[in-house]
Amino acid sequence: MDRTEYLATYRLTHKKELQDYRKTHKDQIRDNNRRWRANHKDELKIKNHDRYLNEKESRKEYSKIQYRKRKEKITREVFLHYGYDKIECCRCGFNNIFALTLDHINGGGHKHRESLRRTGMVFYRWLQKQGYPEGYQLMCMNCQFIKFKTEDMIK
Ligand SMILES: [Zn+2]
Repeated sequence: MDRTEYLATYRLTHKKELQDYRKTHKDQIRDNNRRWRANHKDELKIKNHDRYLNEKESRKEYSKIQYRKRKEKITREVFLHYGYDKIECCRCGFNNIFALTLDHINGGGHKHRESLRRTGMVFYRWLQKQGYPEGYQLMCMNCQFIKFKTEDMIK
């Protein structure tokens, strides 16, 4: 039995004693750990950096997922509010969330351009922060397009 093996078995067979030791020697253990880290500074630096590089991609992937989740949640909340608890177009009832958007009820051409600048998350977050101001309705892209076309014709 080599040393590592021996220690592993010892850890299993002397669980209780080790637990007690850790409890009664807290300061000593902390000092030892501190000293060990101080003596292995460079080694740890390399190890930590390696780990950082290894996890970089998965971290990126994770935050992408988190962002999408947050976006979906906020979009859903805002749509439910302006759709009166339903996620569907106020004109035709189309209910695919990906083709729905907020329509500025009294929005003319200029206002439309203005509202376009405020699309997506930033705009939805803004609406929430403003306590859902009135003047918006949930509409599908089709109906919105038709609305703008007819408004243009009236002018
Ligand atoms: Zn529609």
